[in-house]
Amino acid sequence: MITGKNYIGNKLSGKGTITHRTINPKLNIENPYEFVQATEEEVEEAVALSEKAFQEYKNYSGKKKAIFLNTIADEILALGDELIQTYTSESGLPEGRAMGERGRTMNQLRAFANLLEEGTWNNSVIDTADASREPAPKPDIRRINIPLGPVVVFAASNFPLAFSTAGGDTASALAAGCPVIMKAHSMHAGTSELVASAIIKAAEKTGMPNGIFSNITGSGRVVGAALVKHPKVKAVGFTGSISGGKALCSLAANREEPIPVFAEMGSINPVIITPEAIAARGENIASTYAGSITLGAGQFCTNPGLLLTIKSDKTDDFINDLGKKAAEIESQCMLHPNIKRDFVANGNSVSAQAGVEVVSEIIEAVAENNAPTKIVKVSGEQFLENNKLHQEVFGPFSLVVVCDSKEELIEVVNGLEGQLTGTILAEESELSTMNDVLQALQNRVGRIIFNGVPTGVEVCAAMTHGGPFPASSDSRFTAVGVNSINRWVRPFSYQDFPDSLLPDELKNSNPLQILRLVDGSLTKDKIN
Ligand code: NAP
Repeated sequence: MITGKNYIGNKLSGKGTITHRTINPKLNIENPYEFVQATEEEVEEAVALSEKAFQEYKNYSGKKKAIFLNTIADEILALGDELIQTYTSESGLPEGRAMGERGRTMNQLRAFANLLEEGTWNNSVIDTADASREPAPKPDIRRINIPLGPVVVFAASNFPLAFSTAGGDTASALAAGCPVIMKAHSMHAGTSELVASAIIKAAEKTGMPNGIFSNITGSGRVVGAALVKHPKVKAVGFTGSISGGKALCSLAANREEPIPVFAEMGSINPVIITPEAIAARGENIASTYAGSITLGAGQFCTNPGLLLTIKSDKTDDFINDLGKKAAEIESQCMLHPNIKRDFVANGNSVSAQAGVEVVSEIIEAVAENNAPTKIVKVSGEQFLENNKLHQEVFGPFSLVVVCDSKEELIEVVNGLEGQLTGTILAEESELSTMNDVLQALQNRVGRIIFNGVPTGVEVCAAMTHGGPFPASSDSRFTAVGVNSINRWVRPFSYQDFPDSLLPDELKNSNPLQILRLVDGSLTKDKIN
């Protein structure tokens, strides 16, 4: 049941006087629940509990943490239809998407549980002592990754489950050994409270310390800023706008003790389509991309917002076909009236720039918060001259840039801001001539897709979901997949420690039977 209160550790609390409601974007009305913004006192209490919980939780075994994560997944499923209905009423997204995202959220939690059970993830390195080494004896040094401390996670508007309350950031931080304080997204505060109740239930069932998780609500940035500035908070996870991510990075950098902010921000995900690919299968590419641009009303961080090609006699037909096919796809409801407002304003701002032509736009009356798909085009020369054409238009929008030559296309790629993904659509026969394009694209993105679409991010160990700024604030890490756990740990070394005081991962007998780097060799062997 939704109460509208915050979870301050295991306890529901609503001491404040500032309230807000979520909106049902399909019906364009407010949802019935009122959410009480956390007070300064409640924020303080949540962080204090989190810090206390950290002192205990950081020493829990991987197996114990794995049971907790698996139980969270079970409890999310047990929320049943109430979760699905609340999700759809707060996001405008359809029921099928809600169920798919719930499955993905549970799978992510279970993937981290498996990682912890296996145990090798925290990078145990052992360099044994050599008393006879000349000119000085070599000490015994053993290194492991240890958790940073309490983590604040900002939920994402566009993934109310998989990148929100029990989403990838939360699952990875809890797996690393860090308690989480969730800043619920004000657009889906009810969904967040329900998922928080599942996490708290799982925490109580599996004997986790009070404060392992808190769910803080509020809108207007006050609560989020207070959390990031709190001295006991040691790291931040964020998915959202470039302006929001940059503001939080700056708050964190200006603290007396600066802390890392792992922000995943805007991306327009360039797609390079060669004239040969257009000639060979232009119609097919147009259909596929009309689908990808409009998928989920274009509200994915990997949405293909920029298509790049080189002029040929088939270019215009291809672009017109893409525009027609995109306009034929039924418009969908956006997440929130403000997201729709910004989509229209940002799309209009791009199409008002010099040299931009509208290829297609849904202009007939669509439901109030539905997204009118828009495809526009511009020359490579105009794109190079005008940075305003590089901005993300969050929604079903794509700008096609027609370059005069391969050299100009490479110049366009070199001038792009950092991106999550890049895509190349090309024919097998031209692969040997594509190396310069590939090299340029690799410099700007975190992942390159060949002959596919960027939408759809597989959750697996090899995935990189991040990229040069502003795609993410730290391109050395991924926000998706089990390796995202590395954002929440720091390396720590023990020197000449008695075996009994070492964590199990570093003990001579290797009781966890994990793979370790011992004197330069990867092995599960014990040390004699
Ligand atoms: P947002 O405005 O960046 O807000 C996300 C979260 O960050 C909210 O909880 C917000 O708090 C908090 N926040 C933002 N700025 C802050 C600041 N200066 N200080 C403290 N907290 C701050 O993103 P959004 O509401 O999800 O969506 C807005 C736009 O972001 C979208 O229209 C889209 O353009 C972009 N977006 C992009 C992606 C992507 O993957 N590329 C994903 C989501 C959104 P409050 O709730 O208190 O305001």
